[in-house]
Amino acid sequence: MVDTYGREIYYLRLSVTDRCNLRCRYCMPADGICKKSHLDMLTEDEMIMAVEAAASLGIRKLRLTGGEPLVKKNILSLCERSAGVEGINEVCVTTNGILLPQMAKDLKAAGVDRLNISLDTLNPEKYAYITRVGTLEQAIKGIESALEAGFQHLKINAVLIGGFNDDEIPALADLSRRYPADVRFIELMPMTENEEFGQQAYVPGSAVLAALPELTEAEQNDGVAKLYRLPDAKGNVGLIRAVSSYFCAACNRIRLTADGKLKPCLHSDQEYSIKGMNFDGMRREMERTILSKPACHAPLSATERSGAKRSMNKIGG
Ligand code: SAM
Ligand code: SF4
Repeated sequence: MVDTYGREIYYLRLSVTDRCNLRCRYCMPADGICKKSHLDMLTEDEMIMAVEAAASLGIRKLRLTGGEPLVKKNILSLCERSAGVEGINEVCVTTNGILLPQMAKDLKAAGVDRLNISLDTLNPEKYAYITRVGTLEQAIKGIESALEAGFQHLKINAVLIGGFNDDEIPALADLSRRYPADVRFIELMPMTENEEFGQQAYVPGSAVLAALPELTEAEQNDGVAKLYRLPDAKGNVGLIRAVSSYFCAACNRIRLTADGKLKPCLHSDQEYSIKGMNFDGMRREMERTILSKPACHAPLSATERSGAKRSMNKIGG
């Protein structure tokens, strides 16, 4: 479906849970989240009905995210049923990778086409620090399990945080030589959980280009990331400049939270609830969501915070 600014909206990001097995400092509070009653959350059938309603409006790409999608008990069933929805031709999952050693093969068998795996550092102490509870070894095993399970076009996403991992840009980028995977650096977005991070944390994507003068431009086939390549690499290095250069003009997506709120824009608190609705109701609200997408969100910076009013794990990053 085309929105009021002429953009084709064909991508739904569905947050299947706001729970997570990690506690990344820029995303979630240390003590987890105030767990909502499961009665407030979308059921599996409601999620699938929402995917069907979205597909009937021209959505063809689906990403299951969270929270951590792999902690959701029925994730395999959700993947399988979503992949079977007529009109959906790509099902992707974004994960921290921790549970991939035991789940990668099943995800592949359930029809997942692509995986994005988050990894912000290659230093075990720093990994334990930023995630509060995770181990680097588990995350690396997750990446390797995904490759062993036959996932191609793997994307490894690192949030660039000044004073934390900007000294690791070359080491992280080098993963595109070690693995047949794209390594994408995402600018830290000023969401509720990282309010106290300070100005220096917000490093522009240009820092990657400065740290890696040997990068050359690659073929551009990734919607939000500008792609480059290291000599002799198996994958690309991508820059997702979510703060310094907006991609609103090319926005192609809507979001649905695990508690059934449709979001026209990541950085707006505008939401439309579909919890408890039938197919027609969901379809109508989805149409309304697409038609109410703003031309662009307000500027973001260390002092200009996102208007989302939810932490990232509750939106579905
Ligand atoms: N748990 C999964 C994971 O970590 O990949 C999926 C959900 S997580 C919210 C999705 C992505 O959002 C991760 O790559 C995470 O690093 C990123 N993210 C979370 N908070 C962010 C922020 N404030 N700025 C930029 N990226 C953020
Ligand atoms: Fe969990 Fe992903 Fe948020 Fe980290 S970024 S706390 S892994 S949802």
